[in-house]
Amino acid sequence: MDHLCPEPKEDDTMNSSKPQFNYDGPIFDAHTHVVDLDDLAIQVRIGETYGVKKALLIVHGDVIKDVRERYPHKFIYAKYFSGWVLMGGEIDQAVKEAKVMREEGYLVAKMHFAPFWRTRLETDSTLSVDDSVLDPLFDCFRDNDIPVLIHISDPDTYYATRYPAEEFGTKDEHLQQFEHRMKKSDQVQFQIAHFGAQPEIHRLENLARWFHENPKLYVDTGSARWIARELSKDPIKAREFVTKYSDRILFGTDCVSRTDDVSYYDGRYLAERLLWETEIRNEPLPFTDADTQNSGGTFINGLALPENVLSRLYWENAEKLYLL
Ligand SMILES: [Zn+2]
Repeated sequence: MDHLCPEPKEDDTMNSSKPQFNYDGPIFDAHTHVVDLDDLAIQVRIGETYGVKKALLIVHGDVIKDVRERYPHKFIYAKYFSGWVLMGGEIDQAVKEAKVMREEGYLVAKMHFAPFWRTRLETDSTLSVDDSVLDPLFDCFRDNDIPVLIHISDPDTYYATRYPAEEFGTKDEHLQQFEHRMKKSDQVQFQIAHFGAQPEIHRLENLARWFHENPKLYVDTGSARWIARELSKDPIKAREFVTKYSDRILFGTDCVSRTDDVSYYDGRYLAERLLWETEIRNEPLPFTDADTQNSGGTFINGLALPENVLSRLYWENAEKLYLL
């Protein structure tokens, strides 16, 4: 189970030409989810073929005990605080859960502030991430040294197609709300999912400012689709950015174990390793990107990152942050 570069497989329909990858050290996947235990076994197996030694696992449902038994040293665990709880204002309950999460085996809190909770909660009075109602929860994370993996916004493409501003607010507003939260809760250790929700080339400057203003801030590189699509649009700028901030970026796929379709997991790992390690140009994303399927598709332009940068993204930053 220890291959670093997957051998071409007979039944491989994802990508006919797998290039030689440049990195053969260990990989930490800093953003994965478990929903189904059997599917998790597939996620783990495919991850290992791409060099994944350990991962941060966001646990949905009550399966942490079973996962720990099956994989004693594979994961660090994140407790999931959904929008139901957070944006719906169930803060007392959340604080109660946060206080005992360490004893249950969780090291990290995952908070989910996507605009769609507004629709799911069927209300127009959802809390924003900087609302003072949430202060006790962030204070609890600070007081207990619990790092927070947080989802703060969504791709520009979603705002263009499914979040009318008059109903949901704008992406800039959502980013500003998080910035306000970072300032209020400046002792909390944040890992912002999805490249800080700002992999779009025109947003990199703002993310750079956040890195400068908050020396504790990290981002991860899930989802493969969103990150590969946007960074590939200007690989020179993207390469410069990732190299410059390579001590703040954690590799992550956002794989969710709720399917037994091997190509789902394979596609995400393959897409990211192509993006980070190769010089490939205009390589079709190895799976469908719903956001571009009617407008020409998504293509990967590799950043060919140097080895010292890769080892920070793939392992060293996680080692530092989560004391692996
Ligand atoms: Zn996720």
